[in-house]
Amino acid sequence: MSLANGRPYLAIPGPSVMPDRVLAAMHRAAPNIYAGALPDMVETLWPDLRRLAGTRHHVGIWLANGHGAWEAANANLFSAGDKALVLATGRFGIGWAESAKSQGIAVEMLDFGKSSPVDPARFEAALRADRAHEIKAVLVTHVDTASSVKNDIPALRRVLDAVGHPALLAVDCIASMGCDEMRMDEWGVDLIVGASQKGLMVPPGLGLIWASDKAVERCRDAGLRTPYWDWTPRFGAREFWQYWHGTAPTHHLFGLRESLTMIFDEGLEAVWARHAALARTVWAAFEAWGAGHPSIGLNVADPAQRGHSVTAARIGPAPAATRLRGWLEGKAGVTLGIGLGMSTPEDPAGDGFLRVAHMGHVNAHMTLGVLATMQAGMVALDIPHGPGALDAAARVVAGAA
Ligand SMILES: *Cc1c(COP(=O)(O)O)cnc(C)c1O
Repeated sequence: MSLANGRPYLAIPGPSVMPDRVLAAMHRAAPNIYAGALPDMVETLWPDLRRLAGTRHHVGIWLANGHGAWEAANANLFSAGDKALVLATGRFGIGWAESAKSQGIAVEMLDFGKSSPVDPARFEAALRADRAHEIKAVLVTHVDTASSVKNDIPALRRVLDAVGHPALLAVDCIASMGCDEMRMDEWGVDLIVGASQKGLMVPPGLGLIWASDKAVERCRDAGLRTPYWDWTPRFGAREFWQYWHGTAPTHHLFGLRESLTMIFDEGLEAVWARHAALARTVWAAFEAWGAGHPSIGLNVADPAQRGHSVTAARIGPAPAATRLRGWLEGKAGVTLGIGLGMSTPEDPAGDGFLRVAHMGHVNAHMTLGVLATMQAGMVALDIPHGPGALDAAARVVAGAA
């Protein structure tokens, strides 16, 4: 029999759970795009989006997913043949590099593997080797959704400053915005890429770019711009239509309005703290399951280097993780994320790896529920695991709440 019927829980790292309030805000007739509720409401989005990223500078929205937002960033930063230094800490840094290469950007890649953040010493050496200052921008992922590695963005800024290298610092925050702390201006970040369907709890379809005055100034002549990707008219818009280069993403914008209201009603720092506590809850369970069972373990060893929106972990030997995901979906109504880009020679399909998302509209009962159903699945499938995971998870929740 199956115990899956009831409200399902999609615990994959994007799209994330959409709050009923966001869905209700989107449930309306097509609005007029020339006057009225939509243009009036959109003026309230810009200050809240700036506050979300921690910037007083620019923000724009494109009808696009994260891949589109990467292209928007690349097109506004670079001319063909310009150099980008990509710091890869999982699958998504590599993806951004591929997108830049396909647009004609000269990419130098430093790959730090699948379980570690950027090594500041290697980053510094690459900057020092660039005596002619050919690197125009450094592209890095804040939280890589495949590995769940989190990079220390202020530390990267300090390296750039210590070397005296003028490259812009561009950060992919698609998986971390609204989940992990981000203070764009204070941290000296020049560009942020975001998307609607993760911590922002809105369906996929909005690509966001935040940019510093310095980035706008430095990139005035970026030659990869096309009329659609160019940020100039969007950042300088006076009239509603100028933000969109075509029809606005009407319903997504009402959803985003509601999600920002929810975030700021809770308080941005409280939202970050909730994600941190739920992440620690998940980690505590994995640590208990993995005690004495080395085939189970978190992908990132140091808690300070783990993102708060998603946890990547081994549940081996393959295909244990894939079997467990199947059991959870079929028997318990929970869908976990696949192991993305985590194949090894022993496990070419990545079936000993999975991801638990805890981004956006998630709370203690959802997280404890996922962990308890995972444990039920391990029992049902005879996947050996250490005891005490749910007690450990409950202790984290009790201590945090
Ligand atoms: C999800 C994600 C992307 C890609 O976004 P899509 O909307 O799937 O194109 C890029 N970077 C990060 C860090 C992500 O989490």
